[in-house]
Amino acid sequence: MSYDINKIRQEFPILNRKVYGKPLVYFDNGATTQKPNSVISSINKVYKDINSNIHRGVHFLSAQSTDAYENARRVVKEFINAEHIHEIVFTSGTTASINLVAFSFGEKYISEGDEIIVSSMEHHSNIVPWQMLCERKNAKLKVIPFNEKGDLLIEEFKILLSEKTKLVAINHVSNTLGTINPVKEIINLAHKKNIPVLIDGAQAVQHITVNIQELDADFYAFSGHKIYGPTGIGVLYGKEKYLNTMPPYMGGGDMIKTVSFEKTTYNDLPFKFEAGTANYTGAIGLAEALNFVSSIGISNIRAHEKALLDYGTMKLSEIESLIIYGNSNNKTGAISFLLDNIHHSDVGMILDKMGVAVRTGNHCTQPVMDKFNITGTVRASFAMYNTKQEIDILFESLNKILEMFS
Ligand code: PMP
Repeated sequence: MSYDINKIRQEFPILNRKVYGKPLVYFDNGATTQKPNSVISSINKVYKDINSNIHRGVHFLSAQSTDAYENARRVVKEFINAEHIHEIVFTSGTTASINLVAFSFGEKYISEGDEIIVSSMEHHSNIVPWQMLCERKNAKLKVIPFNEKGDLLIEEFKILLSEKTKLVAINHVSNTLGTINPVKEIINLAHKKNIPVLIDGAQAVQHITVNIQELDADFYAFSGHKIYGPTGIGVLYGKEKYLNTMPPYMGGGDMIKTVSFEKTTYNDLPFKFEAGTANYTGAIGLAEALNFVSSIGISNIRAHEKALLDYGTMKLSEIESLIIYGNSNNKTGAISFLLDNIHHSDVGMILDKMGVAVRTGNHCTQPVMDKFNITGTVRASFAMYNTKQEIDILFESLNKILEMFS
C-alpha cells in the first residue's frame, strides 16, 4: 500500500489551522499527538448516542456503553498482542500505570534492601514512583548509564543485575533522545534471573510494532493521547500471574465483589484495578485511535517517520553550529538539539512565531540533561502526518534565527 500523506493529513482537522497567520507545523508529537476525525467523532457519538455509566446498569444504554468499553479493551489486547483480555487495565495514562505498579507490586514484592533498576534516560514518571517506593520500603534504586550517542550500556546492566534486583523498569523509546532501547534483550537478561520487567511504552506504541507476547514483558504502560487518542486514558498491561497476586491500588466502586465492615472481597481482573467510574469515553476513543493506526499500518508509519528522521537529521546537520543530542543508530523520529549558543526556550519561542511548534526544556528527563551538562534542548518529534516540506520550514526558520542572533 502506498502511503497517502495527503489523505492522512485530511483526517486531522487541526492541521488546517493557522498560527500567527502561518500554516501550523506541528512537531510537538512527543508531548501529545493530534486527533483524527474518527477519534473526535467517536467521543461525540458516546455523548450523543450511548452515554451511560458502565458495568452497573441494567438498562439499554448502560449495556451499550459497557459493550463499547469492553470492546475497547479487546482492541487494545489485539493491538499489542497480549495473551489475555483481563491483562489489560485501563488507567488515566502512562504515569498512572507506572504508579499503579510501583504501589501495588511494591506493596507485595519489595522489602528492605531490595533493588530496582531503571536507566538514566527515563522520563521522570519512570523514576519518581520508584524513588517513592524505595523510600517507603528502604529499598535501593540502581541506574543503567548510557553513552554519548544515547545507547544504554548493556554490559553495565548485566553488572547491576543481582539476586537483590526485584524489578527492572525501562523505557522502550526515550522521549528525549529517540533511542529505541533493546528491551527484548533486557527482558531476556532479567528473566534469566527470574526478575520481572516493566516497559514504559509511552513513546513506542505509536511508532513501532509492539508485540507483548514476543517481548515477554511483565508490565507495559502507555498513554492514549500520544497515539492519536484522547487525553486521560492509558493502558497498563500486566501478566496475569503478577496482577492476580498484587493488592489493589485504589479502593472504591467496581473493584470489589462484596463489601461488609467485617470483610471486603475484591473483583476479578482487570476490574480489581479499575476503581470508580472508568473513563469509558476515553477508552472508546482510544480504541478508535488504535483502529486508525492499524488501518494505516504501524510498519508503514514507521517507514514514513524513519524517512523524516533521516531527512531531518541530514538537514539539521547542515547547520554547523547545531548539535544533535541522541545519535543512536536505532531511533524513532525525535530530534533533540541546541542551536549555536542560543537558549533553547528562545529558539522555541521564535520558532513558534514562525508557525513551528516544538518542545523546549528538559523534557521531564533531568538526568539526561545532567549527562550532557545542559539545561534543556529543542525537540522536534514527528508523527504519521508530518512531511519533508515541514522539515524544510524548520530548517529555514532555524537559519533565520541564526541570522537574527548573529
Ligand atoms: N514516559 C515517557 C517516555 C514519556 O514520554 C511520557 C510523556 N512525555 C510519559 C512517560 C508520561 O506520560 P503521561 O504524561 O501521558 O502519563
